[in-house]
Amino acid sequence: MLLKPFHASPLAFFACDPNQSRGRRFFEAAAPTRSEYQRDRDRIVHSSAFRRLVYKTQVFLNHEGDLFRTRLTHSLEVAQLARSIARSLNLNEDLVEAIALAHDLGHTPFGHAGQDALNECLKRHDPTSAGFEHNLQSLRVVDSLEERYPTYNGLNLTFETREGILKHCSRRNARQIEAREPGGVAQRFVNQHDTEPLWLQPSLEAQLANLADEIAYNAHDIDDGVRSGLLVLEQLQEVALFKQFSSEALAQHPTLKGRRLLFEAIRLMLSAQVYDVMEATRQALDKAVPLDVQAVRKQSPLVCFTPSMAAQSADLKKFLLHNLYRHPHVLEKMQQAQKMVRDLFGAYMADPALMPQAHADRFDGNDTPHSVGAKPERVVADYIAGMTDRFASKEYERLKLGIVM
Ligand code: MG
Repeated sequence: MLLKPFHASPLAFFACDPNQSRGRRFFEAAAPTRSEYQRDRDRIVHSSAFRRLVYKTQVFLNHEGDLFRTRLTHSLEVAQLARSIARSLNLNEDLVEAIALAHDLGHTPFGHAGQDALNECLKRHDPTSAGFEHNLQSLRVVDSLEERYPTYNGLNLTFETREGILKHCSRRNARQIEAREPGGVAQRFVNQHDTEPLWLQPSLEAQLANLADEIAYNAHDIDDGVRSGLLVLEQLQEVALFKQFSSEALAQHPTLKGRRLLFEAIRLMLSAQVYDVMEATRQALDKAVPLDVQAVRKQSPLVCFTPSMAAQSADLKKFLLHNLYRHPHVLEKMQQAQKMVRDLFGAYMADPALMPQAHADRFDGNDTPHSVGAKPERVVADYIAGMTDRFASKEYERLKLGIVM
């Protein structure tokens, strides 16, 4: 396998070039020393939504242990993997890093359980509601909910970073965004069923951040699963990908056992997946020869695994779903979390004054000058989605809704 040397390389012609960016929603003069994508990344790192990721659940609740991944450490691992691959493919490292660091900003407390509960609350409150989607919420955070700048809401990120953040979007929500921002980040989801779509894929950097997300959680959820005692090393031998690399680790270090064997197997597995993506993507690019980013957007996805690695990765995902994400211990915690989210939603809808003044004002339609014009139930959903696990638990106790286990 031919690998590129590890130094910053010039951008490929199919990479996103910050000097060719489609720009920001509100005009800003260029920064003197940083590229547009560096600036996006820096704004994300300084946002309050980013800091809150440290107390948001990935799989295990925050209070279950200090060593489990949180949304913050997960996002950092995604950024690390995505940057390594981006450098080897001459893609834009700053853009891929910005997207990776922002990709989970819209996650509710308590992981997917919190999101499902909030979605259900919105739909039960109003059957015509478009519900709650975490990718869309991440975009909402960077477009509207962060209040840091004097003349606009949000972080005013570039089109390319926002395009990467909006990984999925229902057609219905896409139409609403498209109405506000014609030809913007949601256009590809409006067009997706057309016979001759204008644009189906995001940039290669966005595709890469997405695949790096999958590589990161598949690997770190094995680690956290074993750390928690819900998975055992022997059981992981069912997974062909893990078995291959734990055998390889033992072949290289025959006395290795326990956690060090686990770490070495995961390390080898991560490296193999990273090299696989580099190689498979390079081949896909050689075949498709996209001349620029616009050409990339009209192709099928080009950042990919080889078919055999894709199948092995899917098997690993299936294993984690059945043995970890649906483990009775995890399900029990998640059911408690869903009840908390539902009860908080009910309490704020009944009495918006229970929320801080700024949120209560938005609920009543007395918004800041940069109003995002949201319906009351959306204001409550935004407030709950922004909570960390521990803040939501404290709020639950403060409002005397019940005892947190
Ligand atoms: Mg993620």
